[in-house]
Amino acid sequence: MVNVYVGLGSNLDNPRAHVTRAIQELSQLAHCELLLSSKLYSSKPVGPQDQDDFVNAVVLLITELEAHDLLDQLQALEQQHQRVRERHWGPRTLDLDMLLFGEQCISSSRLSVPHPEMKNRAFVLAPLVELSPELTMPDGTSLQQLLNQCPIDDLTCLEP
Ligand code: ADP
Ligand code: MG
Repeated sequence: MVNVYVGLGSNLDNPRAHVTRAIQELSQLAHCELLLSSKLYSSKPVGPQDQDDFVNAVVLLITELEAHDLLDQLQALEQQHQRVRERHWGPRTLDLDMLLFGEQCISSSRLSVPHPEMKNRAFVLAPLVELSPELTMPDGTSLQQLLNQCPIDDLTCLEP
């Protein structure tokens, strides 16, 4: 069994509802068990600002799946949420990113783990540290230390 951290994000069609429902769906994934889920956070979009703020969260799963098989499941879940907008391929209602998969480093055409951008994103690091204050990257770097170095101006926690 491997500990897996998955990041969730949404900024379309009631983002809070998408993230909340996705956490529920992640708790029902085959061959996985949901151990922890973070509070919901709100962040400004990366890149173009002419779009709504994001709602973000992180969950901790344990799984017996291989990483690419879990990615298949995460992508199937993303597809279920995208089907809300069938008429055209609009912005995504749900983004699921595999942040950490045990201590594995994976680099394939479909999967890069640890997620290449996570070190620079407070909306990923803050919920990760909330769940697991002692967590480190596979190379031993402390996530709390990465969070301390990361600008967090635009991040707010949506729950007490
Ligand atoms: P982003 O999450 O960077 O905004 P996308 O969700 O559109 O971008 O990227 C999806 C692609 O990223 C998929 O084709 C998937 O195979 C690939 N990918 C690579 N590494 C990961 C990862 N760690 N988690 C999720 N998808 C990943
Ligand atoms: Mg993604």
